[in-house]
Amino acid sequence: MKRKIPYFIEIFKSLIKIPTISSKKKAIDQSNKVFIDLLSNYFEELNFEIKIQNIPHTNKFNMLSSCGVGKGGILFSGHTDTVDFDDNSWTKDPFKLTEKNSKLYGLGVVDMKGFFAFLLNVISSINIKKIKKPIYVLATANEETDMSGARYFVESTKFTNIKPDCIIIGEPTSLKLIHAHKGHISYKIDIIGDTGHSSNPHCGVNSIEIAYEIIKNLIDFKKYLQQKYFHKDFSIAYPTMNFGSIKGGNTINRICSFCRITFEIRPIPQLKLEILELLLKEKLKKIKKKWPNRIFLKNLFFSVPAYEISKKHHITKKIEDLCEIKSNTVNYCTEAPFLKKIAPTLILGPGSVEQAHYPDEYLHCSFIEPTQNILKKLIIKFCY
Ligand SMILES: [Zn+2]
Repeated sequence: MKRKIPYFIEIFKSLIKIPTISSKKKAIDQSNKVFIDLLSNYFEELNFEIKIQNIPHTNKFNMLSSCGVGKGGILFSGHTDTVDFDDNSWTKDPFKLTEKNSKLYGLGVVDMKGFFAFLLNVISSINIKKIKKPIYVLATANEETDMSGARYFVESTKFTNIKPDCIIIGEPTSLKLIHAHKGHISYKIDIIGDTGHSSNPHCGVNSIEIAYEIIKNLIDFKKYLQQKYFHKDFSIAYPTMNFGSIKGGNTINRICSFCRITFEIRPIPQLKLEILELLLKEKLKKIKKKWPNRIFLKNLFFSVPAYEISKKHHITKKIEDLCEIKSNTVNYCTEAPFLKKIAPTLILGPGSVEQAHYPDEYLHCSFIEPTQNILKKLIIKFCY
């Protein structure tokens, strides 16, 4: 059979070459259309069926490619977007795959366009005519901003009328198997005081003094979470809370009329976001009553739930045995809490997370062969 698809490095180069930056700043945010089209062409060459999905009200797209029909099989998932890059800190061209000292440099090599290059390479090397259960490859949009690609994919059940036995997200885990991660939720609290001259502080409510009371309450809440929730698989075994910033006032001789506190919480899997939010609101109820219309709690950014598939789950065990690795946990977020609604989801991919989102992002070449072997094993196990 004549191989139409280019070799690994050529594919890899072509994927890195297309900028797909996701950003909350509109001027920087880019469509991933060209990337999705290229990826679709590659999978079509391998006789995969392609479905493309537009995320409503955006210029962003998801792609689901599949080979084979019926129940079961495996779904490999990756996000097509990258973070923005700092031109002054990169010593190489972020959009040119560059090999040096056994490292492949480029924006998205580990996080995570490289994963698609690996999939194309491995799938083109096996005889897919022999597969008995489907192989799916999902490419999502906007993972780096609000995860709207994965969220929308899971919501649109007609589109996702599939039931694989397992989902593998190829985020850079250094080829370690990940079965759980913490969630992330962040807030701001705006505190409205009164303005007035400092010579008579009693003529107005000072927002910094209210902030002091709020902070005391939040520190209590932090301790409560720490004592109440525990998960032994995490290196930091409880939900964490961190104050990120506090800003207020503008001059020494005025009563401070406005103060803002920001903070984040990283829940462990048994603490659902809805429960966390209820507990937090309950904690602030008394002080809000004491200072009506002066305290405003709001979500900052988007939130991601914690995720876990049991270590004892048969799919976890199966992949642990197959790849001869023990599953672990991480402290960063992925699309797993959404995708796991479709099938048991694990995270396993080439390259280290330490290089993700950093200048001169690279994939160490020592990952190439083991990644190819693992992907091949997974396909044979779940689809043959
Ligand atoms: Zn990523």
